[in-house]
Amino acid sequence: ASLDAIDAREPKVQAFLEVSADLALAAAAKTDAARAAGQPLGPLAGVPVAFKDNMHLVGTRTTCASKMLESYQSTFTATCVQRMLDAGATPMGKANMDEFAFGSSTESSAFHRTNNPWDVTRVPGGSSGGSAAAVAAGEVTISLGSDTGGSIRQPASLCGVVGMKPTYGAVSRYGVVAFGSSLDQVGPFGRRVEDVALAMNALVGAGRDPYDSTSQDCPVDFLEHLEDPVEGRVVGVVPALMEAAGLTDEVKSAVESAARALSDQGAKIVEVELPNLASAIAAYYVIAPCEAFSNLARFDGVRYGYQEQGCTSLAEQTSLSRAHGFGEEAKRRQMLGAYLLSSGTYDKYYYPAQQVRTLITQDYARAYESCDVILMPASPRTAFKFGEMSDPTQMYASDMFTISNNIAGNGGVSVPLGLGEKSGLPVSAQLQGPAFKDRSLLQFARAIE
Ligand code: GLN
Repeated sequence: ASLDAIDAREPKVQAFLEVSADLALAAAAKTDAARAAGQPLGPLAGVPVAFKDNMHLVGTRTTCASKMLESYQSTFTATCVQRMLDAGATPMGKANMDEFAFGSSTESSAFHRTNNPWDVTRVPGGSSGGSAAAVAAGEVTISLGSDTGGSIRQPASLCGVVGMKPTYGAVSRYGVVAFGSSLDQVGPFGRRVEDVALAMNALVGAGRDPYDSTSQDCPVDFLEHLEDPVEGRVVGVVPALMEAAGLTDEVKSAVESAARALSDQGAKIVEVELPNLASAIAAYYVIAPCEAFSNLARFDGVRYGYQEQGCTSLAEQTSLSRAHGFGEEAKRRQMLGAYLLSSGTYDKYYYPAQQVRTLITQDYARAYESCDVILMPASPRTAFKFGEMSDPTQMYASDMFTISNNIAGNGGVSVPLGLGEKSGLPVSAQLQGPAFKDRSLLQFARAIE
C-alpha cells in the first residue's frame, strides 16, 4: 500500500531521493513469514518508514542531498535506522533534505525540490522536508529526521504533522552524517502523537548506544501514561515571544488556542521569561557553522564521494572537488566556519557565542523551576512559496522559535492544530521541556492534538 501511495503521489510531492522497494518488499515478506509462523512481532511490524538521507542504511545511497555524495553507498546502518528495523519497520527509502541539512525549505537539495503536499507551490520546510512531506502525503506512516536548529519541528509545522526533537543524547547519532555535533538530534515524524511515541520507544528502548559517546540511557515507555490528564500541571508561556516580530497573527492565535485548550483541561498557565533568547540565532550561526566546517572537512575529494578528475596536484583536486561538489549554502556555511575559527576571531565571536549558549541554558533551567513545559510557536508562519526567502538571513529567522532548544539541548515537539483561517495551510504549536522529560512533552502534545 505504501509503494502504491508513493507511486501515486511522488510525481507531485517528490519527497524521496530513493525508494528502496526491494528492501521494503523483503522486510514485508519477513514480517508476513513471522506472522504466519506465529512468532512474536515487533511494535512497528509492517509500518512503512522513510529515513532522511543523512542516515546510513545498507542497501541504499546516503547522499545528504549533495553532489558530493551522489553515488555514496552506505557501508553500515545507523543505530536509529537499525532500531526502527529491529522493531519491525518496513524501510521505504531515503527522504529529500537541504544539502547536509543546511536550510529551512529543502530548496538547497542538489537534486530536486520537495513540494508541500498541502499546496505544491509551497515549500515543505526543512531541512527534513522530505521526511515531513512523505508523512503528510500518506506515503509512509512514520519517518525520521534530524534537528540541529529546528529541522524536524519546522517542517512538521509547515506540513501539518507531529515532529519531535528529543533531548540531546536520547537518540544515538551513530551513522547519521554530522552537521553540528553538539546540536544534532534525530527524531520521528508521525501523523499522530501516538505514532511518534511508538517510534520514540523503538529509538530509545534498547538503551544507550556505545557507538555514540553522547548518547544516554532514557528508560522511559513513551506510550505508557500518554493519555494522562494534564490537570494540575503547569504550562509556561513567554509573553515576549508571542509579540516577536515576524510571528503571524494566524500562528499566534493557534498557539493561544492551544493554551486555552490546556487551561480548559485543568492545566495552570503561567508566564515565564527567557531573556537571552533574542541572541539565540546569532549564537547558533556562530556555533553551527564552526562545527559544520570541522565535520565537512572530511569531504576532501580523496576519501569520499565526488572527485574532480584530471587535476595536476592534490591541492587542486581537493579545491576543485569541494568547489564543484558543494552547493551554495554548504559553501557559505563552511566559509563562515573557517573564518570564525581562524586566529583572532575566536575571542570576538566563538567564545561569546559559547557564553550566550550558557546564558540560554540557564534561562531555561530557571523557567522550568516554575513550569513543566513551555508552549510557544514552532514556525513563525505557515509554508512559504518557493524562492520567497531569497535572503539567507531571512531564511535563518525561520528557526527563531526552535534554535534555542538545540542550544540548550532540551526536547521539543511541534503539534499540528489544523488549518489557518486565512491561509488554509497547516498551523501548529510547539511544546518544549526540560532535558529528558520528553515523555511529558508527548502527554501535553496528546492533550492539544
Ligand atoms: N535551518 C537551520 C539551519 O539551516 C537548522 C537546520 C537543521 O536543524 N538541520 O542551520
